[in-house]
Amino acid sequence: MPNTKEIEQNEKRVRREKTSKRVSTGKREKDVNAKSSKTERKKPIDNKQKRNPRNSKRHTNKIEDVRFKKSPLKIIPLGGLLEIGKNITVFEYENEIIIVDCGLAFPTEDMLGVDLVVADTTYLEKNKDKIKGMVITHGHEDHIGGIPYFLRQVNVPIYATRFTVGLIKNKLEEHNLLKSTTIYEVEQGTTVDFGKMKVEFIRTSHSIPDAVGFAIYTPIGIVMHTGDFKIDYTPIDGQKIDFGRLAEIGRKGVMLLMSDSTNSERKGFTRSESTIGEVFDELFMHCQKRIVVATFASNVHRVQQIIDASVENNRKVAICGRSMVKMIETACELGYMNIPKNTLIDIDMIKSYPDEALTIITTGSQGEPMSALTRMAAGEHKKVEITPNDLIIISANPIPGNEKFVSKVIDDLMQIGAEVIYSSLADIHVSGHGCQEEQKLMLSLIKPKYFMPVHGEYRQLIAHAETAEKLGIPHENIFIMKNRTCA
Ligand SMILES: [Zn+2]
Ligand SMILES: [Zn+2]
Repeated sequence: MPNTKEIEQNEKRVRREKTSKRVSTGKREKDVNAKSSKTERKKPIDNKQKRNPRNSKRHTNKIEDVRFKKSPLKIIPLGGLLEIGKNITVFEYENEIIIVDCGLAFPTEDMLGVDLVVADTTYLEKNKDKIKGMVITHGHEDHIGGIPYFLRQVNVPIYATRFTVGLIKNKLEEHNLLKSTTIYEVEQGTTVDFGKMKVEFIRTSHSIPDAVGFAIYTPIGIVMHTGDFKIDYTPIDGQKIDFGRLAEIGRKGVMLLMSDSTNSERKGFTRSESTIGEVFDELFMHCQKRIVVATFASNVHRVQQIIDASVENNRKVAICGRSMVKMIETACELGYMNIPKNTLIDIDMIKSYPDEALTIITTGSQGEPMSALTRMAAGEHKKVEITPNDLIIISANPIPGNEKFVSKVIDDLMQIGAEVIYSSLADIHVSGHGCQEEQKLMLSLIKPKYFMPVHGEYRQLIAHAETAEKLGIPHENIFIMKNRTCA
């Protein structure tokens, strides 16, 4: 899920989540920061996997058990469960650790004076000699935002796809960490060999270009980690999720699937990103007003569609908001956006164009207090003054927790007399996460023995677990994990 808060990261006070007391909900879970190292050998998955999964009749044969005995694979989510945000998961096999993603979260209201929240990585600092690398699924803040803070503790090589690398580099540059960091660009479809574990990068669809899921090959079996995904049959860049490869991996036999649960309470499918373009065309075609569109900066394909509709209807485009300007620059440099010459104008030049010949693309779709749209709505923006001759399109849904900020902004804009269109009035937003039918397709292609719903609050993990059970995964093979516990 994207977060477009404009972050002056260098000056921010960062809260590292304190390890809270945890009550183990069963034998399968342990607090990884607990002192007793004797009890570190936790291996619920391994206990089952060291038996030959294809030969279930031999499960009780002790000689077989000894022969197949292997070290346990530990999977430790340090963040991202029972929450949306700060995704980071540790995969540990013997003396090797691979980290999947390293995100940040934004504070809840009770965290006064806190600007950013990163996961507690004490466990990784203690085991830093084992870390072989960090692999990143995609460039949203809840997956890459924690990287600079983590690198200050432990310097590890980073592996990501091209667009994600571009965004991570921007971040490292801001934090003066670019020179000291090794970062590898990995193409979708290739595999990185870390020694005992290997990670294959598999193309998926999401609300940011170049998202991938990982097939993690370990000595005790394959773990498939979807990353954030939806199934988009008509993506803007034509790059579909790699169904063929997912099916092949499913056929090899997957021990564990860890899958995105964000929309697991929603029935049906998430619509394609390309359906938004038609709605924009319709809105732009009949509009004589100035158009202001707020959306997530990282949704490059959304921004591209807004620009396309503007060009089609003879409008110039001005960009507002630091993160939006930076994202468009990066996307253009790397070839992920295509803006015809003489389309973009400087925000300082907007007064030289009539309303009907102008679109402004801005940050602030979440009503964040300091964002450009919020300041416009409050009449406090230095460069853009909202008038009754503005059509404002909020092309986003409020992230849970932001609803009241967004409705305040809508109210303020309407009081000025502007026309406001938001997602409950028109189909101007689609999610980047798959709904139940897409989650079913993933489960059916991968056919895992065990299932761990990830990336969601508790009720979303539960809903995803129920979907998996309907598809035949036994209840006892489904793990609902908490952060900083170990499977
Ligand atoms: Zn996410
Ligand atoms: Zn995401």
